[in-house]
Amino acid sequence: MTDIDKLVRNNVRNLAPYSSARDEFSGKEGIFLDANENPYGNLNRYPDPYQRELKSAISKIKGIPEEKIFLGNGSDEVIDLCFRIFCNPGTDKALTFSPTYGMYEVSAAINDIKIIKVPLNGSFQIDMPVVLPLLDDETLKLIFICSPNNPTGNCFNRADIEKIISTFHGIVVIDEAYIDFTEKPSFTPLTSAYSNLIVMQTLSKAMGLAAVRIGMAITNTDIIKYFNKIKPPYNISTINQRAALKMLATKGENKRQINLIIRERDILSAKLLDLKITKKIFPTDANFILLEVTDATGIYSSLVEKNIIVRNRTSVVNNCLRITVGKPLENNALVSALNSFEQ
Ligand code: PMP
Repeated sequence: MTDIDKLVRNNVRNLAPYSSARDEFSGKEGIFLDANENPYGNLNRYPDPYQRELKSAISKIKGIPEEKIFLGNGSDEVIDLCFRIFCNPGTDKALTFSPTYGMYEVSAAINDIKIIKVPLNGSFQIDMPVVLPLLDDETLKLIFICSPNNPTGNCFNRADIEKIISTFHGIVVIDEAYIDFTEKPSFTPLTSAYSNLIVMQTLSKAMGLAAVRIGMAITNTDIIKYFNKIKPPYNISTINQRAALKMLATKGENKRQINLIIRERDILSAKLLDLKITKKIFPTDANFILLEVTDATGIYSSLVEKNIIVRNRTSVVNNCLRITVGKPLENNALVSALNSFEQ
């Protein structure tokens, strides 16, 4: 068992957190004269700082106890909070596997944390012989594992991830932003077995709520306590909590959308495979496809001229475009545009 208190930065462990009006009285009924709000209007009251109603709805859908869920203003806030809880600026390190989601590195830089980037192997899997010796470093505090990985699209081998969690003395964050697009199982059940594991998920992708900005950390209550200790008091707005609750109530519709996207992903992959410009399609567990082409930058620019925007990832994977699966008409427009390139 990892002693979480020992891993936490001294100043955070000793911090006296801000106590908001809604921390001190959380009842719903009463004459509220405690938070200097305007007594008139519909959005005049501060939101529930702990988003209890929303967590209860998420808990029922995911089968995860409410007390194991922390909600951030997008997963990007959760990433930043992980650095602030566990890493001492200027001395500590974090580790990622490249190429991967860019915010781990940016958030590390903002917090003055050195990042070790271990390149994925030729199959875009974790290079275990390279990573295992690095885990002994006492100043290494955090490891980010994005699975399914952005931008490669694949899940990493489960046994490799579990080996890292069980070997590492620090915190492992598994980013499952795209987990609803794959049949492969989530790591959330393992948060009971491993006290150093945080699983991140988001409502931005499969749930269709990127504008609402809600990301989740699923972990044990010792770590949840620290997220709550340092987060901004009212980090999720009332409007966003309500929007998320409304969408979660239409679960069937969302499931239908996810199935449609997965079906379209397979149709689009097959069509992309037939193009003259295609050199390789990488297998994907996400709602996007990494496509190696003859000239990523040239093709990207020509698509932009046709008002079709994909992501040029040639700087991280040579000559690759990352294509998000759209609606059938959008995907067809993309394929027709790509068909006009000779090679
Ligand atoms: N993780 C991954 C792997 C992502 O690709 C993204 C967004 N592109 C995020 C996290 C950020 O998600 P959110 O909208 O919840 O901040």
